[in-house]
Amino acid sequence: MVVAEHVHKHFGRLHVLRGINLEVRRGEVMCVVGPSGSGKSTFLRCINHLEKIDSGRLWVDGQLMGYRQKGGKLYELHDSQVAAQRRGIGMVFQNFNLFPHMSVLGNVMEAPVQVNREKRAVARDKAMRLLERVGLAEKAPTYPRQLSGGQQQRVAIARALAMEPDLMLFDEPTSALDPELVGEVLAVMKDLAEEGMTMVVVTHEMGFAREVGDSLVFMDDGVVVESGPPREVLANPREERTKAFLSRVL
Ligand code: ATP
Ligand code: MG
Repeated sequence: MVVAEHVHKHFGRLHVLRGINLEVRRGEVMCVVGPSGSGKSTFLRCINHLEKIDSGRLWVDGQLMGYRQKGGKLYELHDSQVAAQRRGIGMVFQNFNLFPHMSVLGNVMEAPVQVNREKRAVARDKAMRLLERVGLAEKAPTYPRQLSGGQQQRVAIARALAMEPDLMLFDEPTSALDPELVGEVLAVMKDLAEEGMTMVVVTHEMGFAREVGDSLVFMDDGVVVESGPPREVLANPREERTKAFLSRVL
């Protein structure tokens, strides 16, 4: 579903991704951990082409992201073609990023109506089903500021699901939450994983990684230092850098 080959990314002189290779199969949950500044968010943003990679290849669902390959050469896709690729990818951020001036229901309906031109009645029905799924149907008429952080993040997940993505990217979805609100968001994500969604999750929640993840990737300084089944990586890290990181967070 996601294949990265030798992905490099610079910001000016800063070489942030230094040859990332990894694969996420359909239906799998990959958890990504690593120190601050190691390139986790940049890599997630490269997956949906919010950042352009400098070299290497990145495929999502068999499609090269952002480019068309012809006779060994790469041609950039038009914005509308990139937008079409992105439609299949949902993204959830640390800070929810809900539209503050729209109701909860409005937030979830917005993209299907504006981007996919769905009929409002159809979009509303779907939005209500999604809000039920994340346990927030009764909050449909309220506004984001009236919700707790955990509730806002569940709305953000429902909003991403409204576009019926094949792949969901999560960038530290629980890092901005008070500890007592983390569980409700992780529970929604776990349900989603159990329903077969393909997910890449940048997180510090090692319990989630162990329980829900099919693979765990440890990134440091722009490379994948170590990856494997979460239980193995967590119990028997092979690399010194992984051991040092885990001893700080576990
Ligand atoms: P954190 O755990 O703190 O979220 P991260 O692993 O997600 O860290 P990134 O946000 O990917 O790290 O950043 C990797 C490096 O790239 C950092 O040194 C950061 O300062 C730099 N960086 C990220 N985005 C940009 C940008 N748009 N312009 C310049 N430098 C950037
Ligand atoms: Mg980050």
